[in-house]
Amino acid sequence: MSVLVQASNLTKHFDLGKDRRVHAVDDVSLTINEREIVGLVGESGSGKSTFGKALVGLHDKTGGSVSFQGRALPRRYRQRDFERYAPHMQMIFQDPYSSLNPRMTVGEIIGEGLRLHSPLSGSEIRERVAAWLERVGLNADHRSRYPHEFSGGQRQRIGVARALILEPEFVVCDEPISALDVSVQAQVINLLDDLKASMGLTLLFIAHDLSMVRYVSDRMAVMYLGSLVEVGKADEVFFEPRHPYTRILVGSNPEPDPTSERARPSTAIQGEIPSPVNLPPGCRFADRCPQAMDHCRVKTPKLKPLADESDRLVACHLYD
Ligand code: SF4
Repeated sequence: MSVLVQASNLTKHFDLGKDRRVHAVDDVSLTINEREIVGLVGESGSGKSTFGKALVGLHDKTGGSVSFQGRALPRRYRQRDFERYAPHMQMIFQDPYSSLNPRMTVGEIIGEGLRLHSPLSGSEIRERVAAWLERVGLNADHRSRYPHEFSGGQRQRIGVARALILEPEFVVCDEPISALDVSVQAQVINLLDDLKASMGLTLLFIAHDLSMVRYVSDRMAVMYLGSLVEVGKADEVFFEPRHPYTRILVGSNPEPDPTSERARPSTAIQGEIPSPVNLPPGCRFADRCPQAMDHCRVKTPKLKPLADESDRLVACHLYD
């Protein structure tokens, strides 16, 4: 399997002035292989979206690096970098209501990438847009309508067509279903699954719902307060979580997996995620961890392979 995207010690801080900064993403390394779906989970405020945006150049990087097909991407994108990389790396946004320009027709929205990044003529773009509307389960005649004329699920399909019409190799899906009714979530997931199979896409799939992430992903990465705490095969992380945070996250998952016969204990996560401005010393999870030891509050655990399971990475002193 060849590596498509590699984040190495990627760091993104937001400066608040007076020596205060939001540590949104800290020293995160993650490999995403070609044609792989990596699910990224964690509570709100864990840095998932910031990480996804930094991967595709929508956030400048404070430190570390991102490479795509072995080539290092710029730390700060300029216009020419967007022109160069947008056809290869795209993002599907969380909110289908606010991510579509209400003053543009659906045809203009979906075709915008081709107008900016391809040599196609106007009629060729119109043909591609019509084909993509059909491909995402809408009607080619819908191209002259405006976003407000569509339901949430339909708008997310428009967002999917807008991102994929350039046939990118890599797509960050930032909570693509969380704003949708449960009844349409599965439709959008199945659409992404079909397109992944037919286009050979590689995805970073960011979501809250662990059972959904387990369903769509090959591997799962768990993020807490800007750092990765566990990475492994999606089924194994879901059914046999090793990090105390993952165990609680899986146990508190609101939708237990109905397809599984493997029972999971029900747990609820205690307290709030700490502020990413005032980070606790040592393990960032220590204040909420039921297994915290004295040295956890002093020494920061590193993400490293488990002795008995080398393709599972865990950042916890229980495995030192
Ligand atoms: Fe809990 Fe310590 Fe592991 Fe952190 S390092 S998750 S506090 S046991």
